[in-house]
Amino acid sequence: MIYLLLLIVKWLLIFIVTLVVVIAVGTWLFLKLAPTFGGRPDAETLARIKASKYFNGETFVNLVPTHATTLDIDDVTDGVSPEESNILKQFLFPPKGKNPSRPIASYRLGKPQAGAKQPTAHKLTLTTQPLAEGEFVWLGHSTVLFRLAGKTIITDPVFHRASPAPIGGKPFAMTHAPKVADLPFIDVVLISHDHYDHLDHKAIKQLMRQKKAGHFYAPLGVKAHLVLWGVPDTMISEFDWYEAMQIASVEPSQASATDALLTEDALRVVFTPTRHFSGRRIKGHRTTLWGSWVVQSATLNVYFSGDGGYSSEFANIGERYGPFDIAFMEDGAYNERWRDVHMLPEESAQAGFDLQAKVVLPIHWGKFDLSTHHWRDPVRRIKQAVAKGNTQVAVDKQIKLATPRVGEVFTLDKLPTEAWWEAES
Ligand SMILES: [Zn+2]
Repeated sequence: MIYLLLLIVKWLLIFIVTLVVVIAVGTWLFLKLAPTFGGRPDAETLARIKASKYFNGETFVNLVPTHATTLDIDDVTDGVSPEESNILKQFLFPPKGKNPSRPIASYRLGKPQAGAKQPTAHKLTLTTQPLAEGEFVWLGHSTVLFRLAGKTIITDPVFHRASPAPIGGKPFAMTHAPKVADLPFIDVVLISHDHYDHLDHKAIKQLMRQKKAGHFYAPLGVKAHLVLWGVPDTMISEFDWYEAMQIASVEPSQASATDALLTEDALRVVFTPTRHFSGRRIKGHRTTLWGSWVVQSATLNVYFSGDGGYSSEFANIGERYGPFDIAFMEDGAYNERWRDVHMLPEESAQAGFDLQAKVVLPIHWGKFDLSTHHWRDPVRRIKQAVAKGNTQVAVDKQIKLATPRVGEVFTLDKLPTEAWWEAES
C-alpha cells in the first residue's frame, strides 16, 4: 500500500516538474522568438540612434524629467504599493462600467450614400469609395484615417488585441468593428511609437499582404520591427525629434525645409517630441523613440499626439507649427500615477489650447480597457474641460470638439458633436 502511494507521489512529481519545465521553456521560446516582440535595429539605425542628441548612450530621454510608472517595469524597484495592488485588482476584477456592457454602435467603414439615413445600413467600404479630400474618420483608440493633398493617411493602425499574447488587451465589441480589409490604399502610414496599442504587428502584416501601404513614417528604431514583419526597408523612413520630410513637391524657396511653401499635391510631416516611453519587451524600454506628428498640406494643418504626459512642449509645437486645423489628442488610459506619461483629460484639453488647435478629436479611448477608469470618462471629462477652457479664452482661440462615432466620416466644416456615448451602456 505504501509502495503504491509512493509510486503515485513519484509520478505526480515527475508530471508537475515536466509541466513546469514545458511551460518555462515554452514561455522562454515565445519571449525570444515570437515576431510580435519586434526586431533589433540594423547598423545604420544604430548609428543614427547613437548620434541622436536625445539618446544618452543607453536609452532615449524625455525633454523633461519623467518619473517611473507602474507601466515601466524597468523602473519598478520599490515593490507593490497598496495603490498598485488596487490597480491590479481593478484589472483582474473590472468594476462595472470599465468596459461597455454591449457592443458599441459604430458605423460600417464607408461613406453614406445620398439619401441614406443611417450609414450603418449601407454596404459600401472605403475600398470601393475612398475618402475625399479633407475627410476624416476615427477608427477607435489612436487610429485615424484621413485624406490630404490627394494622399490617404493613417495614424497608428491597430485592429487587433493590444497585447503580445492571446490574453488581455481585447478590443471592445462594436457593431461594425473596422478591419484592414475595409481600408483603401494608404499612401502614408504614421507610427507614433512601438507600444502594442499603437503598433499592431498583425495589422502591419495584413496591410502588406493586401498591398495597401505606400510608405511608413516611424520613430528611430521602429524600422527593425516593421522589417521583421515584412515591410521592405525602402518603404520605411525613420525620424528623430523635429526631423521633417516633404512628401512630393514643394515650391523652390530660400526658406528652410520646414518653412517652404507646399504645392497642392504635397505634404510635409514633422516628428515632434512627447513625454512618454517605448518598448515591446519586458526589458529594454526607451531604446526606440516615441513622439507625435505634424502633418501639413497647402490647405490644412494637422497634429497627431501619439501618447504622452502634459508638458510645455505642446506650446513650443503650437508656436512652431500651429495653429492646427485639427489635433487628434490622447485622451484615455490615464491614471493619476501614470500622469507623467499619459495626460488626464483636463490636460489633454489644455494641450489643445497650447497647440492652438481649432478642433480637438479625442483619441486613445473607446476601444481598449488599459487603465482603471470608466470607458466613457475620457470623453465626458474632456468635453467639460474644453467648455470650461473656452470661457477663459478669446473667441478666436476657442476649441471645437469633434466626437464622431467609430467609422463615421466627417469634414471640418461639419463636425460631429453628438454625445453618442451617453446612449451606450
Ligand atoms: Zn504608449
